[in-house]
Amino acid sequence: MSTIFSKIIAGDIPADIVYQDELVTAFRDINPQAPTHILIVPNKEIATVNELSEEDERVAGRLLLVAKKLAAQEGIAEDGYRLMINCNAHGGQEVFHVHMHLLGGRPLGPMLMRR
Ligand code: AMP
Repeated sequence: MSTIFSKIIAGDIPADIVYQDELVTAFRDINPQAPTHILIVPNKEIATVNELSEEDERVAGRLLLVAKKLAAQEGIAEDGYRLMINCNAHGGQEVFHVHMHLLGGRPLGPMLMRR
């Protein structure tokens, strides 16, 4: 039942890992949508934001703090960037292991596709 992201976190399949600590791992998206496109993922397998619980508060906060650190490291903090977490079908979630997208390096346009 291990997700592809759990396999990356465990080192079982390769990825361009840019950060790892006891709570989260960050690696470059395999299909980048912007010059910087990094996924920040809880080491613990949590399927969607809907499954987050009170005990996940530290890991949830860590996602944001690592995003901030990586944005600075990537040199995109000043110009700005976007943080995004997709949930289930309407959110367009494809991998059912919570992950935050860090996107930047160019103007990203409107937040949502216009209908
Ligand atoms: P989401 O639609 O929010 O679930 O995003 C899933 C993201 O995971 C997509 O942007 C994919 O390109 C990315 N992805 C899928 N498999 C891999 C992988 N093996 N390594 C890195 N990124 C991946």
